[in-house]
Amino acid sequence: MYTKRILNEKLSVFHSLHFPYLTSKVSSHRHKTVIGIGGNIGDVKRRFEHLFFRLQKDKRVDIIESSLILKNPPFGYEEQDDFFNSIIVLKTSMQAKPFLAYLMRLEKKFARVRSFANAPRTLDLDIIFFDNRVINTEKLTIPHPAWHQRESVLIPLWGIQS
Ligand code: AMP
Repeated sequence: MYTKRILNEKLSVFHSLHFPYLTSKVSSHRHKTVIGIGGNIGDVKRRFEHLFFRLQKDKRVDIIESSLILKNPPFGYEEQDDFFNSIIVLKTSMQAKPFLAYLMRLEKKFARVRSFANAPRTLDLDIIFFDNRVINTEKLTIPHPAWHQRESVLIPLWGIQS
């Protein structure tokens, strides 16, 4: 199901069915966006596969590529389980703001799966890049702040080809 490679005492990478993934299909959607996906509650790798299927079924987005999955320690509040992170490259015709709202709705849907009221979120979705746009509004910062300092983004990004 998964293959695991230990990088060092803190980091390991997992390959699963659709992580990594690369399509040769051409998308007619206008914008290319790179999203970061993460989680540290429950079976995160399985949830990533569910997310992949859901995105694949949705005509508003085309999946171009995904990265492998990185398991890495939490930063900030450290008294919690390790995180799993990956990258998905998508094309969409939505603009950045509605696309963020779309991702937030997806987060909510996944939080409801096998969860309870007010449970911590089980899936975090961030827009890392949106075309080559620079956006600094109250609700949206693109490129995502500190993406270039986080190994949770940088290591999965290394393998991205598109
Ligand atoms: P978090 O769940 O901690 O990632 O925070 C989500 C909040 O961050 C949302 O309410 C967004 O309005 C805001 N935000 C700002 N920039 C971004 C971005 N590039 N991707 C996702 N959320 C963002």
